[in-house]
Amino acid sequence: ERERLARLRHTPAVTLDGQKIELLANIEGPDDAPAALKAGAAGVGLFRSEFLFMGRQGRLPDEDEQYDAYCRAVAGMQGLPVTIRTVDVGADKPLDRSLRDDAHLNPALGLRAIRWSLADPAMFRTQLRAILRAAAHGPVHLLVPMLAHGGEIRQTLALIDQARGELDARGVAHGPVQVGAMIEIPAAALAVGMFLRYFDFLSIGTNDLIQYTLAIDRADESVAHLYDPLHPAVLRLVADTIAACNAQGKPVSVCGEMAGDTAMTRLLLGLGLRSFSMHPSQILAVKQEVLRADTQRLATWAQAVLQAEDPAALMAQ
Ligand code: PEP
Ligand code: MG
Repeated sequence: ERERLARLRHTPAVTLDGQKIELLANIEGPDDAPAALKAGAAGVGLFRSEFLFMGRQGRLPDEDEQYDAYCRAVAGMQGLPVTIRTVDVGADKPLDRSLRDDAHLNPALGLRAIRWSLADPAMFRTQLRAILRAAAHGPVHLLVPMLAHGGEIRQTLALIDQARGELDARGVAHGPVQVGAMIEIPAAALAVGMFLRYFDFLSIGTNDLIQYTLAIDRADESVAHLYDPLHPAVLRLVADTIAACNAQGKPVSVCGEMAGDTAMTRLLLGLGLRSFSMHPSQILAVKQEVLRADTQRLATWAQAVLQAEDPAALMAQ
């Protein structure tokens, strides 16, 4: 089976009805780039930059250290686009206790991801400068996690401009970036029109979108049986986000676990998704589903799944 899948590596990801599908890799650092290429990824859809920040004591990575890691990822992907997500620490991805102690709080609803970045703009601009500098060496997209509020969006975009200005003032080279937002808080999915006004692309983080829609801690085993990607409310938020992007011709991908789950590929295709980002080990199996899919037929079926009280019952059809 693995050998059979390996042969698909160079096969273009195109459906039976001729739709080109983009299969991207999720990586945790530049060392994952070879695996992404080996799996035939069309680029990196999610570089979780927080892995540069985690497991460190006392000091966060400075601009040059981050720049080096982002450059190595860009070089490693050999000209394919690399989507670098700004730091998403907190909740299930804690920093070392010497840097931050939030054990007494509800970290999933607290100062995580972009909220943490905006609470320390100097630190955030350090990361933004490193990403903008790496963009001088290849195609880089900048992705912002956990946004919900218009004010956060405007602050973030202003800090990106400021970081660019700081590099200009220093005479340091930097490159252009497409700027995108994660849709992973239900409020963001429901206010998708606002996000479309500000961003070049959107990426749906189903891991957190499920957690926050269903009020299920994604790290809590005792409620894991209620963590349901097929809950009608979850599907509605995913479907409407994809449809809103497609209606405006804005790129949208899914980068949560759902994108790498072969049981979900047909449904996401039927909902109009054309870009999937996943662990490299899943890419060939998802490609196999893509090659067998007819998106026109799947679109009709997907609408029935969306309307169903028990979507899981329709998934085998
Ligand atoms: C997600 O929430 O779906 C996502 C891709 O981000 P992370 O899993 O890193 O929170
Ligand atoms: Mg997330």
